[in-house]
Amino acid sequence: MRQPQPEVVFGGTFDPVHKGHLAIARALVQQLKVTVRFVPVFKPGHRQPCEVSPDHRMAMLTLALEGEEGMLIDAYEFSLGETVPTSQLLRHLRSQLSSVTPLFFVLGEDAFVDLPNWVESDQILEMANLIVVPRTIEKIEGSILSEIPHLTAIEDNMVASGRVFQLSFPKVETSATSIRAQLAGGGRSSALPQSVGDYIERQGLYRTPEKTECVTFES
Ligand code: ATP
Repeated sequence: MRQPQPEVVFGGTFDPVHKGHLAIARALVQQLKVTVRFVPVFKPGHRQPCEVSPDHRMAMLTLALEGEEGMLIDAYEFSLGETVPTSQLLRHLRSQLSSVTPLFFVLGEDAFVDLPNWVESDQILEMANLIVVPRTIEKIEGSILSEIPHLTAIEDNMVASGRVFQLSFPKVETSATSIRAQLAGGGRSSALPQSVGDYIERQGLYRTPEKTECVTFES
């Protein structure tokens, strides 16, 4: 019987999408030979206020993925017109997959540390596996990932859910927060894909933040 294709999901605010996000997705595509499903949140829940509209974030993500192999955008939250907890996104994806299809949710080490605070966090591993991407975390020395196995060959780990892996990935010191600060100061960021930097300049984003209302789910 043919093995089901694993589903690899990369959720994020992408406010804006940056080279760190692209490096992660490329590593997943190249190392694991999978397709990466980007799922942008409609309205970020953990930061107030949001800086640019959902449509601008979607436009930047679309530009960033142009010409990239093995990456697609899933506008699930945009079609709902609201932001939902990750547990609900995974439940939705799970409902579209066979019970044996491996589902992998990709998140940075910072997000992984925060996982216990997420809505229905105890159910996340019942629905998906996690791929944690190493990232420097303020106030934590070293890495908390030393005991977590590397996911090198996905075909050896075709479980539907319940496992935590780490991606073999050199840390990339890029964050949307630092990029926004740089842009607000009138600069241009080298951590942005060219097309995204051009879009930001054309649209005048992040200079005079356009405040949009945010909802709060995951801290
Ligand atoms: P912000 O600084 O606004 O929190 P961010 O740079 O973390 O933004 P998000 O869109 O929130 O970007 O990130 C989506 C996912 O990608 C999260 O799980 C986050 O931890 C992860 N991520 C983002 N940048 C990196 C990075 N440089 N290294 C590892 N993981 C990252």
